[in-house]
Amino acid sequence: MAEHIESVMITTEQIKEAVSRIAKQVTEDYKGKDLVLLTVLKGSLPFAADLMREIDLPLTVDFVRLSSYGNLSYSSGKVTMRDGYFPPVEGKDVLVVEDIIDTGLTLSYLSEEMMNKGAASVKICTLLNKAARREKPVKVDYLGFEIENEFVIGYGLDYDERYRNLPYIGILKLDD
Ligand code: 5GP
Repeated sequence: MAEHIESVMITTEQIKEAVSRIAKQVTEDYKGKDLVLLTVLKGSLPFAADLMREIDLPLTVDFVRLSSYGNLSYSSGKVTMRDGYFPPVEGKDVLVVEDIIDTGLTLSYLSEEMMNKGAASVKICTLLNKAARREKPVKVDYLGFEIENEFVIGYGLDYDERYRNLPYIGILKLDD
């Protein structure tokens, strides 16, 4: 698959270090709380799987799939919960695990919905952040890496559903 990669942006080793650093902080911050790791499918799957195994606390996990209307280059800004499933978050300390925050539309919607459904607290953990692209404000509580405005793939992130299984994060090589 390496021939489809323009360059490696974040190596497997760097990802591991970031996961350990964040997990340590979460372990300190959530002592005595009713922690739910809420994974946003599909892209956050590897990050959440690695993170949860390094958090040294009792916790539960849950998953959501979200739909954003529009296509690859245009988003209408309307986000909804897919599959009609809403995780039971009432009274829980929810830590949303996200692969990347771009415009912020997805997470501002999700955080608001969870507070409306009675979560005790909602915090956001993202592996990658493109702050320069923000349209809606989102408070990032735990961050892996701030990145430039590049389209990245790997470690959960896809291009047309592929490349999610790369163990590093790279920039896709586009055909001329
Ligand atoms: P937001 O609502 O913050 O604009 O969108 C976040 C979602 O957009 C991410 O969960 C991801 O699915 C997608 N996304 C944003 N930037 C990238 C990128 O560089 N690469 C990939 N593969 N997906 C991205």
